[in-house]
Amino acid sequence: MSELSRNFFLDLDRCDELASFRDEFHLPEDLIYLDGNSLGAMPLSAKQRAIDVVEREWGQDLITSWNKNNWFHLAEKLGDKIARLIGVGLGEVMACDATGINLYKLLAMALDMRPDRKVIVMEGSNFPTDNYTAQGLIKHLDRGHQIRFAEKDDILTAITDDVAVVSLTQVHYKTGHLLDMEEITNKAHEVGALVIWDLCHSAGALAVDLNNCNADFALGCGYKYLNGGPGAPAFIFVARRHQGKAMQPLTGWWGHAAPFAFEKDYRPADNIQQTLTGTQPILSLAVLECGLEIFERADMAKIREKSMNLCDYFIGLVEEHCEEYGLSLATTRHREERGSQVSFQHEKGFAIMQALIASKVVGDFRAPDIIRFGFTPLYTRYVDVWDAVICLKNIMENELWRKPEYNQLTAVT
Ligand SMILES: *Cc1c(COP(=O)(O)O)cnc(C)c1O
Repeated sequence: MSELSRNFFLDLDRCDELASFRDEFHLPEDLIYLDGNSLGAMPLSAKQRAIDVVEREWGQDLITSWNKNNWFHLAEKLGDKIARLIGVGLGEVMACDATGINLYKLLAMALDMRPDRKVIVMEGSNFPTDNYTAQGLIKHLDRGHQIRFAEKDDILTAITDDVAVVSLTQVHYKTGHLLDMEEITNKAHEVGALVIWDLCHSAGALAVDLNNCNADFALGCGYKYLNGGPGAPAFIFVARRHQGKAMQPLTGWWGHAAPFAFEKDYRPADNIQQTLTGTQPILSLAVLECGLEIFERADMAKIREKSMNLCDYFIGLVEEHCEEYGLSLATTRHREERGSQVSFQHEKGFAIMQALIASKVVGDFRAPDIIRFGFTPLYTRYVDVWDAVICLKNIMENELWRKPEYNQLTAVT
């Protein structure tokens, strides 16, 4: 890579077919934002949409908005927009609740569908809320379920014929490693198990093809690559063949077959509606739609190609310019085997990231020693990759991370 210069990256931006999408986001001046995998940037349209929902829909139309402004069907409408991004059909996805809550619902459904089996296969190093949620559910059910933790290379061998459900995150939050969805789903089905895919770091980052893999269930986050805003509703997918086959445990009126019949007893809807529990956060859903509308005009194949390029260049430049500073790559070099992020390990990782953030290059730190950079092709430029690496080089070369203010722990990393 040694012949590359900043101009080379400016040229790539000039030829980039996705470049104009950047204008649809609000990004603070001079900020290189490489944390869209944690909190996506704000679509410019979100502000006006929020004002409109507050002033007109809520302020003026009040309760009539449930029909007049389609509030009642918003979760399903947004679900249908997410469907295309994850390779499933209309009526198979709802935008609702939080990631962890959706996982709870799906795990309970899946365990109900395999009553004679007691094992859940999960990745121990996954983002912990998934594991915590499974542990809470098992304890609550008290039917002798257990989690069999396996790391990426032994997942396939962990899937034996006592497994009820395999519940995995497709792209690892720390390393960015991308699991083979098709191979794992096939193996699970071969032994009679069901599969839940967590798409938190996949949806909007790469084209997911759930139905092509015959996946059973999935869920994911609205505030990362989908740019839905802080705490945006998550999504939940139930393959049509499973809809109405098992009950989810959070049986509120929105999941009832006839919510407005106000019947005494719960009767689940036999379609995707069954995944709902209660009244959804309309303001948050409305703003999430702004992020999804941008994706309707973007080609996922081009997003994936640019994402792989951005990551490859970043790895190459860090290794070239920061070689002597002890940063070791924690992400695979094989572009087909990673999501849209690159992580490096360094024992001073926390302080290095604080120094980067102070220099307006925003990534994040994951304990104990990972610095993580997310690449969001809709608004990250090629030149940002160059500028970020030069900034990192300056911090390493001059040991700027030694400053005391970069070594004070913060509540959120
Ligand atoms: C981001 C993320 C979550 C977030 O869960 P919340 O319920 O939204 O707090 C869960 N699981 C994984 C794998 C994630 O990456």
